[in-house]
Amino acid sequence: MTIRTRFAPSPTGYLHVGGARTALFSWLYARKHGGRFVLRIEDTDLERSTDESVQAILDGMSWLGLDYDEGPFYQTQRFDRYKEIIQQLMDQGDAYYCYCSKDELEDMREKQRANKEKPRYDGRCRHLTAPKPGIDPVIRFKNPTSGSVVVKDMIRGDVEFKNAELDDLIIARPDGTPTYNLTVVVDDMDMQMTHVIRGDDHLNNSPRQINIFNALGAEPPKFAHVPMILGDDGARLSKRHGAVGVMSYRDQGYLPEALLNYLVRLGWSHGDQEVFSIQEMIEFFDIEDVNRAASSFNTEKLLWLNQQYIKNSPASHIAKHLAWHMEQRSVDLSAGPTLEQIAELYQERAKTLVEMADSSIFFYEKVSSYDEKAAKKNLNQTSLPLLQDMKTRLSQITDWLAEPIHTEIKVCAEKHEVGMGKVAQPIRVAITGNTVSPSLDVTLELLGRERTLEAIGLAIDWIINQG
Ligand code: GLU
Repeated sequence: MTIRTRFAPSPTGYLHVGGARTALFSWLYARKHGGRFVLRIEDTDLERSTDESVQAILDGMSWLGLDYDEGPFYQTQRFDRYKEIIQQLMDQGDAYYCYCSKDELEDMREKQRANKEKPRYDGRCRHLTAPKPGIDPVIRFKNPTSGSVVVKDMIRGDVEFKNAELDDLIIARPDGTPTYNLTVVVDDMDMQMTHVIRGDDHLNNSPRQINIFNALGAEPPKFAHVPMILGDDGARLSKRHGAVGVMSYRDQGYLPEALLNYLVRLGWSHGDQEVFSIQEMIEFFDIEDVNRAASSFNTEKLLWLNQQYIKNSPASHIAKHLAWHMEQRSVDLSAGPTLEQIAELYQERAKTLVEMADSSIFFYEKVSSYDEKAAKKNLNQTSLPLLQDMKTRLSQITDWLAEPIHTEIKVCAEKHEVGMGKVAQPIRVAITGNTVSPSLDVTLELLGRERTLEAIGLAIDWIINQG
Protein backbone atom coordinates (compact mmCIF):
# COMPACT_ATOMS: atom_id res chain seq x y z
CA MET A 1 0.00 0.00 0.00
CA THR A 2 1.36 3.42 -0.91
CA ILE A 3 1.24 5.84 1.99
CA ARG A 4 -0.68 8.98 1.03
CA THR A 5 -0.78 12.05 3.26
CA ARG A 6 -2.02 15.55 2.70
CA PHE A 7 -1.85 19.09 3.96
CA ALA A 8 -5.24 20.73 3.73
CA PRO A 9 -5.08 24.38 4.78
CA SER A 10 -7.99 26.78 4.64
CA PRO A 11 -6.77 29.90 2.84
CA THR A 12 -7.95 32.43 5.37
CA GLY A 13 -4.57 33.94 6.24
CA TYR A 14 -0.86 33.36 5.81
CA LEU A 15 0.80 30.00 6.47
CA HIS A 16 1.13 29.90 10.23
CA VAL A 17 4.06 28.09 11.92
CA GLY A 18 1.55 25.65 13.43
CA GLY A 19 0.24 24.81 9.96
CA ALA A 20 3.78 24.56 8.66
CA ARG A 21 4.63 22.02 11.35
CA THR A 22 1.56 19.95 10.46
CA ALA A 23 2.56 20.15 6.81
CA LEU A 24 6.11 19.13 7.68
CA PHE A 25 4.97 16.09 9.68
CA SER A 26 2.70 14.95 6.83
CA TRP A 27 5.44 15.56 4.29
CA LEU A 28 8.04 13.69 6.36
CA TYR A 29 5.71 10.78 6.86
CA ALA A 30 5.10 10.47 3.13
CA ARG A 31 8.77 10.91 2.27
CA LYS A 32 9.87 8.39 4.89
CA HIS A 33 7.59 5.72 3.51
CA GLY A 34 8.18 6.49 -0.15
CA GLY A 35 4.59 7.72 -0.29
CA ARG A 36 2.78 10.64 -1.89
CA PHE A 37 2.15 14.04 -0.36
CA VAL A 38 -0.87 15.99 -1.56
CA LEU A 39 -1.72 19.68 -1.16
CA ARG A 40 -5.39 20.52 -0.94
CA ILE A 41 -6.70 24.02 -0.54
CA GLU A 42 -9.91 24.00 1.50
CA ASP A 43 -11.45 27.13 0.12
CA THR A 44 -15.16 26.41 0.43
CA ASP A 45 -15.66 29.21 2.92
CA LEU A 46 -16.06 31.78 0.19
CA GLU A 47 -16.30 34.70 2.57
CA ARG A 48 -13.06 34.04 4.40
CA SER A 49 -10.93 32.51 1.64
CA THR A 50 -8.78 34.85 -0.42
CA ASP A 51 -6.45 34.50 -3.38
CA GLU A 52 -3.72 36.24 -1.41
CA SER A 53 -3.93 33.60 1.27
CA VAL A 54 -3.73 30.83 -1.31
CA GLN A 55 -0.62 32.50 -2.68
CA ALA A 56 0.81 32.94 0.82
CA ILE A 57 0.37 29.22 1.47
CA LEU A 58 1.97 28.25 -1.84
CA ASP A 59 4.85 30.67 -1.21
CA GLY A 60 5.34 29.32 2.30
CA MET A 61 5.41 25.71 1.13
CA SER A 62 7.83 26.53 -1.63
CA TRP A 63 10.15 28.55 0.62
CA LEU A 64 10.21 25.69 3.13
CA GLY A 65 10.88 23.22 0.35
CA LEU A 66 7.82 21.12 1.21
CA ASP A 67 7.14 19.88 -2.29
CA TYR A 68 3.91 18.08 -3.08
CA ASP A 69 3.42 15.22 -5.49
CA GLU A 70 -0.18 16.06 -6.30
CA GLY A 71 -2.23 19.22 -6.23
CA PRO A 72 -2.84 21.86 -5.30
CA PHE A 73 -6.44 20.70 -5.46
CA TYR A 74 -9.10 23.31 -4.77
CA GLN A 75 -12.29 22.30 -3.05
CA THR A 76 -14.21 25.04 -4.85
CA GLN A 77 -13.58 23.09 -8.05
CA ARG A 78 -15.20 19.99 -6.63
CA PHE A 79 -18.68 21.17 -5.75
CA ASP A 80 -20.30 18.82 -8.28
CA ARG A 81 -18.65 15.85 -6.64
CA TYR A 82 -19.79 16.92 -3.15
CA LYS A 83 -23.35 17.32 -4.47
CA GLU A 84 -23.19 13.84 -5.90
CA ILE A 85 -22.13 12.38 -2.55
CA ILE A 86 -24.75 14.35 -0.64
CA GLN A 87 -27.34 12.98 -3.02
CA GLN A 88 -25.95 9.48 -2.51
CA LEU A 89 -26.30 9.83 1.26
CA MET A 90 -29.87 11.09 0.79
CA ASP A 91 -30.70 8.19 -1.51
CA GLN A 92 -29.24 5.69 0.94
CA GLY A 93 -31.29 7.14 3.75
CA ASP A 94 -28.16 8.33 5.55
CA ALA A 95 -29.03 12.00 5.27
CA TYR A 96 -32.20 14.07 5.53
CA TYR A 97 -33.61 17.54 5.11
CA CYS A 98 -33.89 19.61 8.25
CA TYR A 99 -36.24 22.57 8.32
CA CYS A 100 -35.60 23.76 11.85
CA SER A 101 -35.33 27.50 12.17
CA LYS A 102 -32.68 29.27 14.23
CA ASP A 103 -35.25 30.04 16.91
CA GLU A 104 -36.38 26.45 17.07
CA LEU A 105 -32.80 25.24 17.47
CA GLU A 106 -32.09 27.81 20.15
CA ASP A 107 -35.22 26.81 21.99
CA MET A 108 -34.19 23.15 21.79
CA ARG A 109 -30.77 23.91 23.22
CA GLU A 110 -32.14 26.02 26.00
CA LYS A 111 -34.43 23.23 27.14
CA GLN A 112 -31.52 20.79 27.05
CA ARG A 113 -29.38 23.12 29.09
CA ALA A 114 -32.20 23.52 31.60
CA ASN A 115 -32.35 19.71 31.90
CA LYS A 116 -28.58 19.66 32.39
CA GLU A 117 -28.13 17.84 29.09
CA LYS A 118 -25.40 18.59 26.57
CA PRO A 119 -26.93 20.88 23.91
CA ARG A 120 -27.23 19.01 20.63
CA TYR A 121 -29.55 18.63 17.70
CA ASP A 122 -32.13 16.02 18.68
CA GLY A 123 -32.82 14.63 15.21
CA ARG A 124 -36.43 15.79 15.12
CA CYS A 125 -36.50 16.19 11.32
CA ARG A 126 -35.26 12.62 10.77
CA HIS A 127 -38.77 11.33 10.49
CA LEU A 128 -40.47 14.09 8.53
CA THR A 129 -42.47 12.62 5.73
CA ALA A 130 -43.22 15.79 3.79
CA PRO A 131 -41.20 18.94 3.07
CA LYS A 132 -42.09 22.16 4.87
CA PRO A 133 -42.97 24.69 2.16
CA GLY A 134 -41.29 28.09 2.05
CA ILE A 135 -38.16 27.00 3.90
CA ASP A 136 -34.82 26.16 2.31
CA PRO A 137 -33.70 23.18 4.36
CA VAL A 138 -30.21 22.16 5.39
CA ILE A 139 -29.17 18.54 4.95
CA ARG A 140 -28.04 16.61 7.98
CA PHE A 141 -26.09 13.38 8.19
CA LYS A 142 -27.84 10.60 10.08
CA ASN A 143 -25.22 9.81 12.68
CA PRO A 144 -25.58 6.36 14.26
CA THR A 145 -27.43 6.70 17.56
CA SER A 146 -25.86 3.85 19.48
CA GLY A 147 -22.43 2.38 19.96
CA SER A 148 -19.26 4.35 19.80
CA VAL A 149 -16.51 5.39 17.44
CA VAL A 150 -12.88 4.81 18.30
CA VAL A 151 -10.38 7.14 16.74
CA LYS A 152 -7.17 5.12 16.68
CA ASP A 153 -4.93 8.09 16.92
CA MET A 154 -1.26 7.49 16.13
CA ILE A 155 -0.18 10.08 18.67
CA ARG A 156 -2.81 9.84 21.38
CA GLY A 157 -3.77 6.20 21.19
CA ASP A 158 -7.43 5.18 21.08
CA VAL A 159 -9.92 7.95 21.73
CA GLU A 160 -13.50 6.77 22.10
CA PHE A 161 -16.57 8.86 21.33
CA LYS A 162 -20.09 7.71 22.12
CA ASN A 163 -22.39 8.10 19.15
CA ALA A 164 -25.11 9.28 21.49
CA GLU A 165 -23.00 12.38 22.04
CA LEU A 166 -22.53 13.18 18.38
CA ASP A 167 -25.49 14.90 16.80
CA ASP A 168 -26.61 14.85 13.19
CA LEU A 169 -24.26 17.33 11.66
CA ILE A 170 -25.15 19.61 8.78
CA ILE A 171 -23.52 18.48 5.56
CA ALA A 172 -25.21 20.96 3.19
CA ARG A 173 -26.27 24.54 3.86
CA PRO A 174 -29.65 25.91 2.73
CA ASP A 175 -28.06 27.05 -0.55
CA GLY A 176 -26.86 23.50 -1.17
CA THR A 177 -23.17 24.19 -0.53
CA PRO A 178 -21.35 21.46 1.39
CA THR A 179 -19.83 21.94 4.85
CA TYR A 180 -16.32 21.22 6.04
CA ASN A 181 -16.87 17.74 7.50
CA LEU A 182 -18.46 16.51 4.30
CA THR A 183 -15.92 17.94 1.87
CA VAL A 184 -13.00 16.59 3.92
CA VAL A 185 -14.39 13.09 3.90
CA VAL A 186 -15.19 13.12 0.18
CA ASP A 187 -11.71 14.42 -0.62
CA ASP A 188 -9.86 12.12 1.74
CA MET A 189 -11.82 9.24 0.23
CA ASP A 190 -11.38 10.26 -3.43
CA MET A 191 -7.74 11.20 -2.93
CA GLN A 192 -7.18 7.84 -1.22
CA MET A 193 -5.58 9.26 1.87
CA THR A 194 -4.09 6.60 4.08
CA HIS A 195 -3.02 8.94 6.88
CA VAL A 196 -4.57 12.18 8.04
CA ILE A 197 -2.11 14.19 10.08
CA ARG A 198 -3.62 17.44 11.32
CA GLY A 199 -4.00 19.79 14.25
CA ASP A 200 -5.68 18.45 17.37
CA ASP A 201 -8.37 21.10 17.06
CA HIS A 202 -9.86 18.60 14.59
CA LEU A 203 -9.91 15.65 16.96
CA ASN A 204 -13.61 16.13 17.67
CA ASN A 205 -14.38 16.10 13.97
CA SER A 206 -12.75 12.73 13.42
CA PRO A 207 -15.51 10.48 14.85
CA ARG A 208 -18.08 12.33 12.77
CA GLN A 209 -15.94 11.94 9.69
CA ILE A 210 -15.35 8.25 10.41
CA ASN A 211 -19.12 7.76 10.55
CA ILE A 212 -19.50 9.40 7.15
CA PHE A 213 -16.70 7.22 5.73
CA ASN A 214 -18.54 4.20 7.05
CA ALA A 215 -21.82 5.34 5.52
CA LEU A 216 -20.05 5.67 2.19
CA GLY A 217 -18.58 2.20 2.51
CA ALA A 218 -15.06 3.62 2.44
CA GLU A 219 -12.26 2.74 4.78
CA PRO A 220 -11.34 5.72 6.99
CA PRO A 221 -7.69 6.76 6.96
CA LYS A 222 -5.50 6.49 10.03
CA PHE A 223 -5.42 9.67 12.07
CA ALA A 224 -2.74 11.56 13.93
CA HIS A 225 -3.72 14.73 15.74
CA VAL A 226 -0.77 16.95 16.37
CA PRO A 227 -0.80 18.92 19.63
CA MET A 228 -0.86 22.65 19.35
CA ILE A 229 2.01 25.08 19.71
CA LEU A 230 1.92 27.44 22.66
CA GLY A 231 3.42 30.89 23.04
CA ASP A 232 5.85 31.65 25.87
CA ASP A 233 2.90 32.55 28.13
CA GLY A 234 1.28 29.13 27.78
CA ALA A 235 -1.57 30.36 25.54
CA ARG A 236 -2.08 29.00 22.04
CA LEU A 237 0.49 30.57 19.72
CA SER A 238 -1.10 33.46 17.86
CA LYS A 239 -0.37 36.85 16.37
CA ARG A 240 -0.32 38.23 19.88
CA HIS A 241 3.01 36.51 20.41
CA GLY A 242 4.61 38.29 17.47
CA ALA A 243 5.43 36.81 14.11
CA VAL A 244 3.71 33.52 13.41
CA GLY A 245 3.57 33.62 9.61
CA VAL A 246 6.18 31.44 7.96
CA MET A 247 7.21 34.13 5.50
CA SER A 248 7.90 36.59 8.27
CA TYR A 249 10.68 34.24 9.35
CA ARG A 250 12.18 34.58 5.91
CA ASP A 251 11.86 38.36 6.26
CA GLN A 252 13.64 38.21 9.62
CA GLY A 253 16.58 36.39 8.07
CA TYR A 254 15.99 32.76 8.96
CA LEU A 255 17.01 29.93 6.66
CA PRO A 256 14.12 27.59 5.79
CA GLU A 257 16.07 24.54 7.01
CA ALA A 258 16.55 26.20 10.40
CA LEU A 259 12.82 26.77 10.73
CA LEU A 260 12.05 23.20 9.59
CA ASN A 261 14.60 21.85 12.05
CA TYR A 262 13.06 23.95 14.78
CA LEU A 263 9.54 22.82 13.91
CA VAL A 264 10.42 19.13 13.74
CA ARG A 265 11.89 19.29 17.23
CA LEU A 266 8.78 20.98 18.57
CA GLY A 267 7.12 17.98 20.16
CA TRP A 268 9.44 15.35 18.70
CA SER A 269 12.94 14.24 19.59
CA HIS A 270 15.57 11.71 18.62
CA GLY A 271 17.90 11.16 21.55
CA ASP A 272 19.47 14.47 22.38
CA GLN A 273 20.24 15.41 18.79
CA GLU A 274 19.28 19.00 18.01
CA VAL A 275 20.43 19.58 14.46
CA PHE A 276 18.94 17.41 11.73
CA SER A 277 19.53 17.50 8.03
CA ILE A 278 16.40 17.00 5.95
CA GLN A 279 17.64 13.49 5.17
CA GLU A 280 18.01 12.73 8.86
CA MET A 281 14.54 14.08 9.59
CA ILE A 282 13.12 11.78 6.94
CA GLU A 283 15.07 8.85 8.30
CA PHE A 284 14.42 9.32 12.03
CA PHE A 285 10.99 10.98 12.18
CA ASP A 286 8.01 8.92 13.12
CA ILE A 287 4.58 10.34 13.78
CA GLU A 288 4.10 7.88 16.62
CA ASP A 289 6.99 9.47 18.49
CA VAL A 290 5.39 12.92 18.55
CA ASN A 291 4.55 14.08 22.09
CA ARG A 292 0.97 14.21 23.22
CA ALA A 293 1.56 17.41 25.14
CA ALA A 294 1.57 20.84 23.55
CA SER A 295 4.98 22.43 23.09
CA SER A 296 6.06 26.02 23.52
CA PHE A 297 7.63 28.13 20.86
CA ASN A 298 11.05 29.39 21.83
CA THR A 299 12.50 32.08 19.60
CA GLU A 300 15.91 31.92 21.28
CA LYS A 301 16.31 28.31 20.27
CA LEU A 302 15.20 29.01 16.73
CA LEU A 303 17.80 31.77 16.55
CA TRP A 304 20.47 29.41 17.85
CA LEU A 305 19.57 26.86 15.19
CA ASN A 306 19.64 29.52 12.52
CA GLN A 307 23.13 30.45 13.58
CA GLN A 308 24.20 26.80 13.37
CA TYR A 309 22.81 26.55 9.85
CA ILE A 310 24.44 29.78 8.76
CA LYS A 311 27.76 28.56 10.13
CA ASN A 312 27.59 25.09 8.64
CA SER A 313 25.80 25.41 5.31
CA PRO A 314 27.73 25.75 2.05
CA ALA A 315 28.34 29.42 1.27
CA SER A 316 26.63 28.95 -2.08
CA HIS A 317 23.42 27.96 -0.32
CA ILE A 318 23.52 30.94 2.00
CA ALA A 319 24.28 33.19 -0.94
CA LYS A 320 21.09 32.02 -2.64
CA HIS A 321 18.97 33.10 0.30
CA LEU A 322 21.01 36.23 0.96
CA ALA A 323 20.26 37.33 -2.59
CA TRP A 324 16.61 37.82 -1.66
CA HIS A 325 17.54 40.10 1.22
CA MET A 326 19.86 42.14 -0.97
CA GLU A 327 17.12 42.47 -3.54
CA GLN A 328 14.79 43.82 -0.84
CA ARG A 329 17.41 46.46 -0.13
CA SER A 330 17.77 47.24 -3.85
CA VAL A 331 21.50 46.60 -3.64
CA ASP A 332 23.42 46.66 -6.93
CA LEU A 333 25.48 43.52 -6.57
CA SER A 334 27.62 44.22 -9.61
CA ALA A 335 29.47 46.84 -7.57
CA GLY A 336 31.08 44.42 -5.17
CA PRO A 337 32.10 40.88 -4.26
CA THR A 338 29.96 37.83 -4.95
CA LEU A 339 27.38 36.90 -2.34
CA GLU A 340 29.21 33.65 -1.86
CA GLN A 341 32.26 35.62 -0.76
CA ILE A 342 30.08 37.66 1.59
CA ALA A 343 28.53 34.49 3.00
CA GLU A 344 31.98 33.01 3.66
CA LEU A 345 33.11 36.18 5.37
CA TYR A 346 30.07 36.39 7.66
CA GLN A 347 29.20 32.77 8.33
CA GLU A 348 30.91 32.73 11.69
CA ARG A 349 29.46 36.05 12.80
CA ALA A 350 25.87 36.48 11.69
CA LYS A 351 22.90 34.98 13.47
CA THR A 352 20.49 35.94 10.72
CA LEU A 353 20.62 36.81 7.05
CA VAL A 354 19.20 40.23 7.90
CA GLU A 355 22.24 40.86 10.04
CA MET A 356 24.45 39.58 7.21
CA ALA A 357 22.76 41.77 4.61
CA ASP A 358 22.71 44.91 6.74
CA SER A 359 26.30 44.65 7.81
CA SER A 360 27.68 43.89 4.36
CA ILE A 361 25.94 46.61 2.38
CA PHE A 362 29.06 48.77 2.53
CA PHE A 363 30.69 46.37 0.08
CA TYR A 364 28.26 47.59 -2.56
CA GLU A 365 27.38 51.12 -1.55
CA LYS A 366 29.45 54.09 -0.49
CA VAL A 367 29.04 54.98 3.17
CA SER A 368 26.67 57.93 3.26
CA SER A 369 27.39 59.00 6.84
CA TYR A 370 29.48 57.98 9.79
CA ASP A 371 28.02 56.86 13.06
CA GLU A 372 28.43 59.89 15.30
CA LYS A 373 30.07 58.13 18.23
CA ALA A 374 32.30 56.01 16.02
CA ALA A 375 33.45 59.07 14.06
CA LYS A 376 34.15 61.14 17.16
CA LYS A 377 36.32 58.44 18.61
CA ASN A 378 38.08 57.31 15.45
CA LEU A 379 38.07 60.05 12.83
CA ASN A 380 39.98 62.88 14.47
CA GLN A 381 43.30 64.69 14.52
CA THR A 382 44.98 61.71 16.22
CA SER A 383 43.98 59.24 13.55
CA LEU A 384 44.53 61.65 10.64
CA PRO A 385 48.24 60.90 10.20
CA LEU A 386 47.57 57.18 10.57
CA LEU A 387 44.95 57.25 7.83
CA GLN A 388 47.20 59.33 5.61
CA ASP A 389 50.09 56.94 6.11
CA MET A 390 47.88 53.91 5.50
CA LYS A 391 46.48 55.45 2.34
CA THR A 392 49.98 55.72 0.93
CA ARG A 393 50.97 52.25 2.10
CA LEU A 394 47.87 50.58 0.71
CA SER A 395 48.23 52.35 -2.62
CA GLN A 396 51.69 50.81 -2.96
CA ILE A 397 50.79 47.18 -2.28
CA THR A 398 51.40 45.11 -5.38
CA ASP A 399 49.28 42.07 -4.49
CA TRP A 400 45.96 43.26 -3.08
CA LEU A 401 45.56 40.39 -0.66
CA ALA A 402 44.75 40.08 3.04
CA GLU A 403 48.28 39.16 4.05
CA PRO A 404 50.19 42.16 2.66
CA ILE A 405 47.34 44.40 3.84
CA HIS A 406 47.76 42.96 7.31
CA THR A 407 51.51 43.55 7.18
CA GLU A 408 51.03 47.21 6.26
CA ILE A 409 48.64 47.77 9.17
CA LYS A 410 51.17 46.17 11.48
CA VAL A 411 54.14 48.14 10.18
CA CYS A 412 52.18 51.38 10.31
CA ALA A 413 51.17 50.71 13.92
CA GLU A 414 54.77 49.97 14.86
CA LYS A 415 56.05 53.07 13.15
CA HIS A 416 53.56 55.32 14.95
CA GLU A 417 54.03 53.38 18.17
CA VAL A 418 50.35 52.60 18.60
CA GLY A 419 48.39 49.36 18.87
CA MET A 420 47.08 47.84 15.64
CA GLY A 421 43.54 48.68 16.67
CA LYS A 422 44.38 52.37 16.55
CA VAL A 423 45.19 51.96 12.86
CA ALA A 424 42.47 49.48 12.03
CA GLN A 425 39.49 51.16 13.70
CA PRO A 426 39.64 54.46 11.79
CA ILE A 427 39.83 52.49 8.54
CA ARG A 428 36.85 50.45 9.62
CA VAL A 429 34.83 53.57 10.26
CA ALA A 430 35.97 54.96 6.93
CA ILE A 431 34.74 51.96 4.98
CA THR A 432 31.69 50.82 6.98
CA GLY A 433 30.59 54.02 8.73
CA ASN A 434 30.78 52.09 11.97
CA THR A 435 33.17 50.13 14.16
CA VAL A 436 32.20 46.58 13.27
CA SER A 437 33.34 44.44 10.38
CA PRO A 438 34.90 41.05 9.94
CA SER A 439 38.67 40.86 10.08
CA LEU A 440 39.88 44.09 8.45
CA ASP A 441 42.53 42.65 6.12
CA VAL A 442 40.09 40.18 4.55
CA THR A 443 37.41 42.84 4.38
CA LEU A 444 39.72 45.23 2.54
CA GLU A 445 40.83 42.53 0.18
CA LEU A 446 37.21 41.93 -0.78
CA LEU A 447 36.35 45.59 -0.94
CA GLY A 448 39.16 46.14 -3.43
CA ARG A 449 41.94 48.67 -3.57
CA GLU A 450 40.07 51.39 -5.37
CA ARG A 451 37.07 51.44 -3.05
CA THR A 452 39.31 51.22 0.01
CA LEU A 453 41.48 54.13 -1.02
CA GLU A 454 38.45 56.18 -1.99
CA ALA A 455 36.81 55.57 1.41
CA ILE A 456 39.99 56.42 3.31
CA GLY A 457 40.40 59.55 1.19
CA LEU A 458 36.85 60.64 2.01
CA ALA A 459 37.44 60.04 5.71
CA ILE A 460 40.62 62.14 5.56
CA ASP A 461 38.74 64.99 3.86
CA TRP A 462 35.98 64.69 6.42
CA ILE A 463 38.45 65.05 9.30
CA ILE A 464 40.14 68.04 7.64
CA ASN A 465 36.77 69.69 7.03
CA GLN A 466 35.82 69.23 10.66
CA GLY A 467 38.87 71.38 11.42
N1 GLU B 1 -8.84 22.94 6.47
C1 GLU B 1 -8.61 22.57 7.84
C2 GLU B 1 -7.85 23.64 8.55
O1 GLU B 1 -7.16 24.44 7.92
C3 GLU B 1 -7.85 21.30 7.98
C4 GLU B 1 -8.66 20.12 7.73
C5 GLU B 1 -7.98 18.81 7.84
O2 GLU B 1 -6.74 18.76 7.89
O3 GLU B 1 -8.69 17.84 7.88
O4 GLU B 1 -7.91 23.70 9.76
